[in-house]
Amino acid sequence: MALITISGYPSSGKSRRASQIKAHLETRLADQSYDGPKLKVSVISDDTLDVGRDAYGDSKSEKPARGALFTAMQRQMGQDTILIVDGLNYIKGFRYQMYCAAREHKLRVCTVYVVATHDLCREWNSTRTDDRAYKTETLENLLVRFEEPSSMVRWDSPLFIILWEEEDVPADEIWKAITAGNVKAPHAGT
Ligand code: ADP
Repeated sequence: MALITISGYPSSGKSRRASQIKAHLETRLADQSYDGPKLKVSVISDDTLDVGRDAYGDSKSEKPARGALFTAMQRQMGQDTILIVDGLNYIKGFRYQMYCAAREHKLRVCTVYVVATHDLCREWNSTRTDDRAYKTETLENLLVRFEEPSSMVRWDSPLFIILWEEEDVPADEIWKAITAGNVKAPHAGT
């Protein structure tokens, strides 16, 4: 039904934002006043696919990692699913491919750009306790190669930018973008 593409630097808080978005969407879908189709919210990420952070250490292992994400995404796209792809998604051409696949499936799309400064990413990466830290060299390399999403191109639009200092995600706007007003907004808090 919809594809939400998360994009952002390594260790910038993407998974945290993906969880926040998922929780907000599930609250709305479970609300009594929701009268749209029955939908589930799924998240795919390197973690759900068991792709280690080392995969981004060189271009040889990076390609199959992206391929795995793309295949999983295509498999899970459907009219009954809001699919959140929680990944670096740092290559413009890759986001374009994701957009084309989503449009082929007639899905609504939006992109969420999770923003943190380089220094914060370095700090959060070095203090991670979840065994999911990038090697310093890999992190620095990804920071340099990151291709920022832009609302000027159709495959990144609509684009929601969430800064590190923001407590929560713009849930209402995201909900509206993926339901496009076809579904009455439930009175679900924010
Ligand atoms: P990513 O998915 O981009 O790798 P995560 O969401 O897994 O990032 O977060 C990386 C680390 O940074 C985690 O240890 C997390 O607790 C921490 N973190 C993320 N966002 C914030 C924030 N806004 N403030 C403080 N720490 C954060």
